[in-house]
This record gives sequence, C-alpha cells and structure tokens, in this order.
Amino acid sequence: MTLQKNLDRAAGLSFPSQAVIDGKLVSAKSGKTFPNVGPRDGRVLNEVAACDADDIDAAVKAARAAFEDGRWRNKHPREKKKIMFKLAELMERDLEELALLETLDMGKPIRDTLSVDIPTAINSIRWYAEALDKVYGEVATTPAERLSFVVREPLGVVGAIVPWNFPLHMACWKVAPALAAGNSIVLKPAEQSPSTALKLGELALEAGVPPGVLNVVPGLGETAGQALARHMDVDLIAFTGSGDVGRKLMTYAGESNLKRVALELGGKSPQIVFADAENLDEAADAAAWGIFFNQGEICNAASRLLVEASIKDAFVRKVVERAAHYAPGDPLDPASVTGAIVSESQMRRVLGFIDKAPKEGAVLARGGKRVREESGGFYIEPTIFDRVENTHALARDEVFGPVLGVIAFKDEDEAVRIANDTVYGLASGLWTANISRAHRVARKLRAGLVWINGWDACDITVPFGGAKQSGFGRDRSLHALEKYTELKGISITYRP
Ligand code: NAP
Ligand code: MG
Repeated sequence: MTLQKNLDRAAGLSFPSQAVIDGKLVSAKSGKTFPNVGPRDGRVLNEVAACDADDIDAAVKAARAAFEDGRWRNKHPREKKKIMFKLAELMERDLEELALLETLDMGKPIRDTLSVDIPTAINSIRWYAEALDKVYGEVATTPAERLSFVVREPLGVVGAIVPWNFPLHMACWKVAPALAAGNSIVLKPAEQSPSTALKLGELALEAGVPPGVLNVVPGLGETAGQALARHMDVDLIAFTGSGDVGRKLMTYAGESNLKRVALELGGKSPQIVFADAENLDEAADAAAWGIFFNQGEICNAASRLLVEASIKDAFVRKVVERAAHYAPGDPLDPASVTGAIVSESQMRRVLGFIDKAPKEGAVLARGGKRVREESGGFYIEPTIFDRVENTHALARDEVFGPVLGVIAFKDEDEAVRIANDTVYGLASGLWTANISRAHRVARKLRAGLVWINGWDACDITVPFGGAKQSGFGRDRSLHALEKYTELKGISITYRP
C-alpha cells in the first residue's frame, strides 16, 4: 500500500449520503443536507441527509413495527447468529473501503483504521453473535408451591447516539449487543463522521438483518439527536459522548417517557509512575502512546501524567523523546502514525488550552503549534506541558487532543489524592514493581478501569465505562447485554 494508491482509491470512493430507514435508502423528508468536511484537507467530502424529527419518527416507527412483529427477536438464535456473522464477513470484504471512509471523515491515519478501528468493530459483531445464545435466565429459590424464573427480554427500540473519535468502533459497541439481545435500533452517528455508520446500515441489509431492525439516521445533534432522545416510543438511549450532551439526554428522558439512559462520557485519566517501576522505558512508551494515539481524541486518554518527584525530570525527557514518533502526517499515507484533528473548531479548542496553560504556570516541554497548515487540514503537533498543577484547566477539563500535562507527586498518598481529584473516573493506570502497592493503589483509584504496568489493556471481554461524571452503563463483555435487556420474573403456582 502506498500514499499514491490510497489517493487514487480515495478519489474513486463514493460516500454514503442517505439515511437507512425501514430497509430503504432515503433522503431527509425536508430535502435538506449538511456538508461532511474532511479534516485531512478541510474540503467537503459530500453532502449528507440532514434528518430531523420527521425522519427520526419514521425510523422509530419502523423499528417499533419490526420489534412488535418479531421479525428479528423471534428468529431462531442460530439464524440470528448466521446473519450477524454474515454482517462481519461483509465488513471484512469491504474493510479497505470502510477504512478509507473513516480516515477521510475524521482524519485518523489509514494504518489505524485498517488495523484497529474496522477490525475492532468487526470483532464486536462476531463476539456478540457468538454470545447471543449463551446467556441464560435463572430459576429463583421460591417456596415449594411456586416456580419462579427470571428471564431477560429485549427492551424494544434502542436509540444509539455516538461520537466521532472511533465512529464505527463505538457504533458497534452498541449495535452488536443491542442486536444480539433482539432489539430494534435507531443509530445516529456524529455529524463529523456519518459515512461508516451509513455503510453499516447498508451492509446489515445485505447480510439479511430484516428491514426496520437497524436504522441509521444522520443529522445534527440538536435536531436528529434531540428528537431521538425525546421520542415517546424509544426505550433506551445508549450514548457515548460529552458530559454536556449526557446531561441533556437525562433531561430529555425526564421530560418525555422516562426512557432508560446509558452514558459513556469523557475522562481526565491519570497515569501514575512510581520511582520503583520495573521498566521506566516501557512506562515512557505508554505515557506517550496513552496521550498521542488517535491525536489524543480518546475518552480514556492518559492526559494527566503523575510522576514521582525524584524521577520526574528524567522521565519527562524520555516522554519528550518519544513524542517525535507521533508527529502528524497525511492520514492517507501508510507511514503516518497520527493524522488530523477532527474539525477546525476542535483544533481551535485544543489550541486554546495550549495557549492558556503557560498563563496558569505550566511550562512547555515540547510542541504547542498547529502544523501542516498548507494542506488546508487541521493538525497539531504532540504537546507536553511540565509543572502542571492539578488545579489548572489542563488538568481539570477534557482537552480531547494531543496535549499532555505532567504533575509531580511526593508519595503514594499524594499520588492517589491527585489522581482522584477530578470529576471524572473513566480509566487510570499505575507503574510499580511493588505488588502490594499495585493492589493497594488499584483499590483506591475511583475509576471504571485500572491498568497496572501497561496502559489501555483493552479487551472485549472486560467491561468498559466509568465512575463519577464519566457516566454509567458498560460497553463490552457480557455485562453490556444487561443494558439492552429487561428482567422479567415469571411465577407459576402449583400444588406441591
Ligand atoms: P458530543 O458533542 O457529546 O456528541 C456526541 C453525539 O451526541 C454526537 O452524535 C452528537 O451529534 C450528539 N449530540 C449533540 N448534541 C445533542 C443533543 N442536544 N441531543 C442529542 N444528541 C446530541 O461529543 P463528541 O464531541 O462527538 O465526542 C467527544 C466526547 O465523547 C468527549 O467528551 C469524549 O470523552 C467522549 N467519548 C467517550 C467515550 C466513552 O466510552 N466513555 C468514548 C468516546 C468519546 P452531532 O455531532 O451531530 O452534533
Ligand atoms: Mg467529517
């Protein structure tokens, strides 16, 4: 694969632009569209259906009809599994196309979309297909004259609202378990990255998912997203995105039909490096990767690096050396390790944090500038600030860009105190060779995930999600099925 080949392929690519509702590709009823801007060079890739409340209503009606007549949920589990496996196979067939669409939509490097984003999405579909007939109900320990069993039933219509940072990957974290559990779905992708979700809707139809079961409705958050979250016939909103929107979704649910809301929100994740870590080079690799991978646009980015004071200066030098590896390049170049920031406004937001940090007393150790401006795209070099205080904006607010803040600590208690001094609680990590300390600190960190001696040790078998304002509800693992199902107790009384 070469840059030229990718440029040629990109030039011939057709971008999906219509919604998938009730098995058909349709334009917005209003006829309106919105521009899908490619952050690689700032140019408009295509015009996409700008769906609003009318289109959402049509999609929810189709989803409800499909759920009520049981065309999906009552299919033999073997049949459902076959269809989901077929979907995974079709995604594999179209892997290159999906990877190109993702790279052009949101600016991440083609090597990641080919090796991480799309394969991870495919794996989610397969994993939940395999799981769908392996989750059993329970028989309760009732008195002799009664037999009670507890069954898990699909909720009905699931509304999934997803962000732009891992578009297809996040969509499949929700679509796969929701489908496996027998629900119908209305998926709203982020306006910055609609293409792969729309393609997923088309591939699902080709695989044999019946019409109306997976609807994909592109549009703006304030219009399409809000209409979905306020709809009186949606049973759950499964959301990944910012805390601000998460708050609104809970309000919409309260003001409409009390639908369930599951929120996967942001983070300000600490990575703690103790002086007794066995391998400080590995820890430095993880510190750089934890913040610079995916241009730092990761909800669990290791954005706060807490380092024991005695090794801090030497350790920061190691991380600064490694940052060069993450210099952004053309996302279509197979050699690029990082690419463009998703949009001009996100780039400006990140540059705003970079501008403010020294004014609060942080010291720039590396980077800090927009680069590759001549491309017309939105690129920021890997940036490191030393002498950050946990009260600085850089330590408190989610930046969602390639900007690391280094905070020194003097002992274990102080490390734990600083790590937990945040409204977030998504991921956390620590490096130490002391096994007692590893267990002790892991228990004290308030976060949904703790990684010891290795950052982002992610796997589909381990639930993903946060504590505190990082949200609630879990993606991945069999636990994810809990949020797409309802418990029902059925009791039969008889003469013993
Ligand atoms: P966002 O602004 O919250 O948007 C997320 C989704 O919500 C988009 O589809 C957006 O639509 C939609 N939306 C916006 N306003 C809405 C409204 N009033 N009603 C209903 N839907 C609405 O977040 P983002 O900027 O895309 O993504 C970045 C955030 O996601 C970060 O905070 C990050 O930490 C978080 N994130 C969390 C996880 C996790 O698993 N915990 C994973 C990835 C990202 P439009 O884009 O079309 O407006
Ligand atoms: Mg885009």
